[in-house]
Amino acid sequence: MRDLFATEKAMAGPRPVVLSGPSGAGKSTLLKRLMKEYDGVFGFSVSHTTRNPRPGEENGKDYHYVTREVMQAGIDKGDFIENAEFSGNMYGTSKAAVQDVQAKNLICILDIDMQGVKNIKRTDLNPIYVSIQPPSMAVLEKRLRDRKTESEESLQRRLRAAKVDMEISKEPGLFDVVIVNDNLDLAYGQLRDCLVEEINKIKRTNMSS
Ligand code: ADP
Ligand code: 5GP
Repeated sequence: MRDLFATEKAMAGPRPVVLSGPSGAGKSTLLKRLMKEYDGVFGFSVSHTTRNPRPGEENGKDYHYVTREVMQAGIDKGDFIENAEFSGNMYGTSKAAVQDVQAKNLICILDIDMQGVKNIKRTDLNPIYVSIQPPSMAVLEKRLRDRKTESEESLQRRLRAAKVDMEISKEPGLFDVVIVNDNLDLAYGQLRDCLVEEINKIKRTNMSS
């Protein structure tokens, strides 16, 4: 009975989308373009993190920036669907972050790391899993360095995590789609193509309401 209920719940609205892949692969860049082109179709699941905001990032929009104490208290209370330690900081998706988007009948996008992917697989969220990969480690390192957001230590940690991510993402069945973000326009086209069915569902719902 419980499984049937879970399935019904998952089928009630549009399927969420999980975007994962190494830091610096281009997830945020692709996501911003998608949300701009499809205004009123996607909603971003705003995660919590203990890392500091980067220039231009906004609290409540890019992340909820919190202390370890606050984050841990939320986890202990059961407020999070998943949480992980990445590159020396805590990150997590709260239940409220996803519910806020789903309440507006939008396609919920989660930008999460590999541990998050594995943990979401144990829930009844039923998302489409998309991995964004860089063309090579060398290109990834250049993108991360050129972005100028990381200290040398953070950069090295991210590169180490990227190596693991690039290996695991080859696991058959883990992702529905793996996109290599070499040429941005081509990668964006691939992302849009794999989401077109869900996008059309939302458009049809909006037209009939
Ligand atoms: P992520 O969100 O996965 O950490 P970003 O979207 O921040 O990655 O991208 C990392 C850097 O690489 C950014 O400075 C971005 O402008 C750049 N970038 C993203 N995609 C491409 C691409 N296809 N070609 C060249 N640079 C890119
Ligand atoms: P950044 O510090 O570059 O914004 O994010 C670092 C990594 O943390 C990225 O791989 C990103 O996908 C991941 N991340 C962001 N939010 C979450 C989250 O809520 N949960 C998990 N598991 N990972 C997250």
